[in-house]
Amino acid sequence: MTDANSNNNANAAPFDKEAIRQKYLLERDKRLRADGNNQYLELKDQLAHYLEDPYTPIVERQPKTDHVTVAFIGGGFAGLVTGARLKEAGVADVRILEKGGDFGGTWYWNRYPGAQCDTASFVYMPLLEEVGHMPTEKYAHAPEILAHCQHIGRHYDLYDNALFHTEVKQLEWQAADNRWLIKTNRGDAFTAQFVAMGTGPLHVPKLPGIPGIEDFKGHSFHTSRWDYDYTGGDPTGAPMVNLAGKRVAIIGTGATAVQCVPHLAKACKELLVFQRTPSSIDIRNNKPTDPEWFATIASEGWQQRWLENFTANQTGSLATEDLVMDGWTDLSRRIRSKIMELKPEDMTQAKMMEAFSDSDYEKMAEIRARVDTIVKDSSTAEQLKAWYQQLCKRPCFHDDYLQAYNEPSTRLIDTDGQGVERITANGLVVDGVEYPVDCIIYASGFEVGTEFKRRAGFDMTGRDGLKLSDYWGQGMRTKHGIHVHGFPNAFLVQPTQGANLISNVPHNLTEAGKTIAVTIKHALDNGFKEIELNRAAEDAWLELLLHAPPRMTGSPDCTPGYYNNEGQTPSPGAKYHVGYPAGPMAYFKYLDEWRQSGQFEGLAFR
Ligand code: NDP
Repeated sequence: MTDANSNNNANAAPFDKEAIRQKYLLERDKRLRADGNNQYLELKDQLAHYLEDPYTPIVERQPKTDHVTVAFIGGGFAGLVTGARLKEAGVADVRILEKGGDFGGTWYWNRYPGAQCDTASFVYMPLLEEVGHMPTEKYAHAPEILAHCQHIGRHYDLYDNALFHTEVKQLEWQAADNRWLIKTNRGDAFTAQFVAMGTGPLHVPKLPGIPGIEDFKGHSFHTSRWDYDYTGGDPTGAPMVNLAGKRVAIIGTGATAVQCVPHLAKACKELLVFQRTPSSIDIRNNKPTDPEWFATIASEGWQQRWLENFTANQTGSLATEDLVMDGWTDLSRRIRSKIMELKPEDMTQAKMMEAFSDSDYEKMAEIRARVDTIVKDSSTAEQLKAWYQQLCKRPCFHDDYLQAYNEPSTRLIDTDGQGVERITANGLVVDGVEYPVDCIIYASGFEVGTEFKRRAGFDMTGRDGLKLSDYWGQGMRTKHGIHVHGFPNAFLVQPTQGANLISNVPHNLTEAGKTIAVTIKHALDNGFKEIELNRAAEDAWLELLLHAPPRMTGSPDCTPGYYNNEGQTPSPGAKYHVGYPAGPMAYFKYLDEWRQSGQFEGLAFR
């Protein structure tokens, strides 16, 4: 392959699948560790300062003791799209509670240099048509996405009633009054007839449990709390001038590091990238949006058409054209065409899985070959190659990340799957060698797989004192991923047990938001005080989900990571972390019919 940005693999040489599989296993085994998820540190006690908000000062205010119609916990996309649909439905009294200092959720916190969406803006950014925004790039950068969130907040009048820098601490159903009591860390104790929550799957930063982490005497921060006072520069890309004389370490090479390393490489006197497992880095091909082209697509209903087209292409449904054409749709279209090459008599589950895995071997060979075409130092190039199936870890797409290793400032410190050995007062130790640095940036990700109440910061007490943590003790239980029996007038906004469309999370959220708005409006219009999911409907939904065919995702040979519980045996509840068996397209169609029918099948209104 000569063109580093070419995806054409028509002339790829045949390869030895068994040898590659053995290499995958070898690399996975290096990375396996007995402590699994416990290897990470929770940011509490002396580490709690890593959570402080560097962006917005906290403003004193009087505690709220009033009553609202709907309270929404979380001011990211989930809260914004649900708030928007509720306002459109005529529910004026919506209060969003948010731990950050403004709307935006992940885009409020993640202001690291280079942050941008990884799914095309036209489908990733919600409510574009409603608020009349044209994304300026195919993959918009974080400041534009944050500004879009603020725009939604203003457009739907969600600011007036919002409570920022506010964390829910207690959420309790008051059966006598058919309402929820909400208590927060700001002394609020107010009630809401309905409560919904979209707290996001990846919002609690974590640190690696490296011995000595608390001994470091230099500066340090987590990527989701970027310290521009220290680095200089700003999220819009102004150069980080304060790093010109600094030796900086970044720990981690996941999707976040991939986006900020190119900027650090340009700014730092020396940048040391500490790698445990390389990410797969495919082509990005970002480009500015041509307003004339945009005018040709932006006729009424355009975003819904694009959403459906993306989801159809990405999840293997038949779609004649690919409007979005990005790394995600390319990945699925390749798999589908590989399966379509099978003879009719070979269309068995086993053969289809084999075709899926062949397509993956080809793709990963291409991704590894791309490293050689870009990275000049051959031993660094070798260390940057990912040896696992692409969907074992979050696929990454970037056109400057690999190039950063050609900068004289930048050095990859590969830990051969072992991670950083120790942190000292002055720096980091790998393989017995100490690397002194001025600053450590932790691109070490977010808690996944820890208990819901630990990540949310509260438990929920439903009917008859039932705690959500107990009700979900053996695994998550819902219908549509939205309603939970025993928790009247409460709704969740998230993908699991619904479409479970991971390549474009906001699509799941907007559909859930619509559903909740329609359901609440029905209750309000008809004077119902309570909405509750029937237990039989919840059982039937779980029964349906558990009979899904095997998913074509990462294999058991996958390298450890948050996608597979760090390579440990999945918890018994993990089997419930699934989506609608017929796939996201079928789910969205089903949910639309469920809403439109006006029957609200499974729910009891009282
Ligand atoms: P990740 O969890 O993906 O990455 C954490 C990194 O830290 C990994 O490279 C991990 O290595 C490394 N690490 C952990 N412990 C150690 C250790 N002891 N020594 C050395 N390295 C260590 O976090 P990210 O913040 O990168 O991404 C999290 C998720 O956020 C993504 O998967 C994605 O879903 C989302 N995201 C989305 C973006 C977008 O849409 N634009 C951009 C950025 C993030 P190892 O791989 O070996 O565990």
